[in-house]
Amino acid sequence: MSESCGQNCNTCSDKTTEKRDDFTANLHQMSSIKRTIGIMSGKGGVGKSLITSMLAVAMNRRGYKAAVLDADITGPSIPKAFGIKQKPATSEFGLFPAMSKTGIQIMSINLLLQDETDPVIWRGPVLSGVIKQFWSEVIWDDVDFMFIDMPPGTGDVPLTVFQSLQVDGIIIVASPQELVSMIVAKAVKMAEAMNIPIVGLVENMSYFKCPDCNKEYKIFGESSIEKIAEQHHLKVLGKLPIDPKLATACDRGMIELYDGNWLDDAAEIIENYGDQAINNLSNDKEGETTMKIVVACEGDMITEHFGHCEAFMIFQTENGEIKNTETVPNPGHKPGFLPNFLHDMGIKVIISGGMGGGAIDIFNEKGVEVITGASGEAKTAVEQYLKGNLKSTGSVCHQHQHHDECSGH
Ligand code: ADP
Repeated sequence: MSESCGQNCNTCSDKTTEKRDDFTANLHQMSSIKRTIGIMSGKGGVGKSLITSMLAVAMNRRGYKAAVLDADITGPSIPKAFGIKQKPATSEFGLFPAMSKTGIQIMSINLLLQDETDPVIWRGPVLSGVIKQFWSEVIWDDVDFMFIDMPPGTGDVPLTVFQSLQVDGIIIVASPQELVSMIVAKAVKMAEAMNIPIVGLVENMSYFKCPDCNKEYKIFGESSIEKIAEQHHLKVLGKLPIDPKLATACDRGMIELYDGNWLDDAAEIIENYGDQAINNLSNDKEGETTMKIVVACEGDMITEHFGHCEAFMIFQTENGEIKNTETVPNPGHKPGFLPNFLHDMGIKVIISGGMGGGAIDIFNEKGVEVITGASGEAKTAVEQYLKGNLKSTGSVCHQHQHHDECSGH
């Protein structure tokens, strides 16, 4: 047991984060991918592949280079939705993804099978081997946003995919009639275990709009998605109706022609998500106008106990204004973990009620400013900080019973 162990095994990340690196495949050296978003669902048939395709189309329409990696190996439906039949081209350096009519790069096992109706009956290790090859042997050309159509569920196969690829964010697709609450809770735990933030939730088959009277019918019952999103501090990115035109577009390989603004908000959030990430990667302090500030929170309020806070609210700021807010559950208090976790996210300032003195030192060494002694609403504190009105009291938590809880080291 480490010194900083709070003896709460339910929240401890020691047992869950250990092996991610062991599985990770290396990206092909000629590939360039800026952001990868995994689309997951609790079970098959809820529209995960449809939403994956539509998100790629939405980002492509916004002028980004989009790609889809179809990791739903046993139910690959992406090539069909895009009407792609041709086999991927190869070269001595590797495999090229297929190109859709509007320039979306696509790789799927269906493009490699002799006959697209051949069943894929491989077991877990072979499946994950293929997915790794999609990552390390395919030459992805300068992709801004790659969407990964994950295998359904929250079991072993999606877990291996997440561990094999470098996934930057997760979108969960659910329909109202599912056990959404349980699925979201499982997905959140999985994401926490792998330190992958959840971008948000999409509800598919939310309602049906009668083409004659325009009345909306909740065919699968009332939605509880907002309540569930709130419970887990997640965003609802969009709600899609049951629309026969969408099913027809998929069947005819014409998903690129879909007409509807249901995913516009999602696309905007993904766009900003990409901006943050790119800022993180460049990590350039010179002339910086953007900054990430993290607040240790319980709900929306600043917590006393940094290491054991419920979640981190991350505020992306630009020219002294908050541009975007995201909440990331606290991944736990593994020794030395939180400072690296937050630093790697590009955080420049941490605001908390209290923090252990050792943790403050570690953050300061990493060039991260720590403000302690703050209280009240997280957003207000950030606004005050940006106006230069929030100063650290420098308060170090000395109380024995809180010492371990407040430290991030
Ligand atoms: P999953 O990837 O979750 O298994 P798919 O995206 O393949 O699910 O969707 C299953 C089927 O349902 C497909 O035929 C798809 O066209 C159809 N479908 C999904 N969402 C909708 C929707 N909102 N309106 C109409 N048809 C839909």
